[in-house]
Amino acid sequence: MNYDTVIIGAGLAGLTTACHLAQAKQKVALMSTGIGSLVLASGCIDVLGFQPAASQQPVINPAKQLGAFLTEQPEHPYHHLGQAKIEASLGAFLELVEGYEGSFDKNWLLPSTAGAVHPTCLAPKALAQGELSQGGSMLIVGFKELRDFYPSLISHNLNAQNLGVQSEAITIDAPPPLRERMNITPIELAHAFEQAEFRQQIVTEIRDKVKNCNRVGFPAVLGLQQHATVLADLERQLGRTVFEISTLPPSVPGRRLFEQLRHYFLQHGGRLTIGSKVVDGTIESGRVSQIRIETASRLQAIKAQNYILATGSIFGGGLQTDNEGRVWEAVFNLPIEHETNRHAWFDKGFLAPQGQPVARYGVQVNDRFNPVNSQTEPLATNLHAVGGLLANSVWTQGRTGDGVAVATAWRVRELLG
Ligand SMILES: Cc1cc2nc3c(=O)[nH]c(=O)nc-3n(C[C@H](O)[C@H](O)[C@H](O)COP(=O)(O)OP(=O)(O)OC[C@H]3O[C@@H](n4cnc5c(N)ncnc54)[C@H](O)[C@@H]3O)c2cc1C
Repeated sequence: MNYDTVIIGAGLAGLTTACHLAQAKQKVALMSTGIGSLVLASGCIDVLGFQPAASQQPVINPAKQLGAFLTEQPEHPYHHLGQAKIEASLGAFLELVEGYEGSFDKNWLLPSTAGAVHPTCLAPKALAQGELSQGGSMLIVGFKELRDFYPSLISHNLNAQNLGVQSEAITIDAPPPLRERMNITPIELAHAFEQAEFRQQIVTEIRDKVKNCNRVGFPAVLGLQQHATVLADLERQLGRTVFEISTLPPSVPGRRLFEQLRHYFLQHGGRLTIGSKVVDGTIESGRVSQIRIETASRLQAIKAQNYILATGSIFGGGLQTDNEGRVWEAVFNLPIEHETNRHAWFDKGFLAPQGQPVARYGVQVNDRFNPVNSQTEPLATNLHAVGGLLANSVWTQGRTGDGVAVATAWRVRELLG
């Protein structure tokens, strides 16, 4: 079967591109080995969180601070986009998903799982309701069985920062059937929250404590498919605004976002294959002619007019490395500028303010997001690279990883749709 576009990779960049192109009535296939970093990250869309990038100074208005960020980061992929395209991409993203709130000119300031401030541009309603600049009092609720979420740590750190919120904490036993389990995951808790009886027991346990506060914060586990019902029911029973705080992975809001995008893509006629590795692609006379995927018995060729490479960085599998200091792009073997001395890949400080050098490695592109060679000539005019695979897209530097994914996806839609 011939497609208009084949997309490789089902992370935020690949899935968002797939939704936009399917919405534009293209015949689109998306092939991916896995579901990417969506289930590891917060489920929010961080576009520009910190400026200077290495500072701890949260950005209040990303649109206003973008210019200063670009001056400081002259090689960042945002240079291929500019302010108007980033802004348009956020509007287009909000049309794909339900329940997200926000805009380019205001960051939400949300409590993180460590009680720090997480500045983010678009957030699901339940997380956005934790906005810290609103002030007031909040109760943070946790569960003994959810080992990686510490309400007292969050509360202590929020209070210590003098943000204008007064926070209290409570840790309770999860109701049966999760009670006294050694370790439960956010996904298990999210399923349990979809049971009315489970919620009822939690409400009974915290009702007295809730009386002293305006808002109640839970770990981000308030349901998966029935999230809106769970949130509304808790708010009704507690008589308070309820909000979610991101957890360590797996991320329930990330999983909800994946499901929303997947559903949108399928509803618009897309073909999605998760579990298929794209092993190689052929570039002939300046165009990609095919890619090949692994199937149970053989390699299968897939052909399309255009190809989108959304395979992420080293973490996603888009870049491969070896112990001889080689770094290569996994599907087309695109050129990757890198040090061959592996000691130069890493800074001595794990949390070095300028980030790890290896995180800068990636595919160089032109303004049409075609991969280019060292003379900046496009290697294939029908191949476009998006998201975390791009060179100098270091998400820890200014928290721009999701913004790059969403904005490059929209740019490709403009170019091909
Ligand atoms: C733990 C963690 C926390 C993060 N937190 C933040 C944050 O707070 N703020 C922020 O801005 N950014 C954050 N990021 C970064 C952000 O999530 C990514 O930059 C962004 O989502 C880019 O996603 P992507 O789609 O380009 O790549 P990925 O999400 O990595 O997806 C790559 C996809 O390609 C597929 N793939 C790879 N190779 C092949 C192949 N050969 N064949 C088929 N499929 C293939 C993978 O299976 C996967 O589906 C975080 C990332 C991680 C890992």
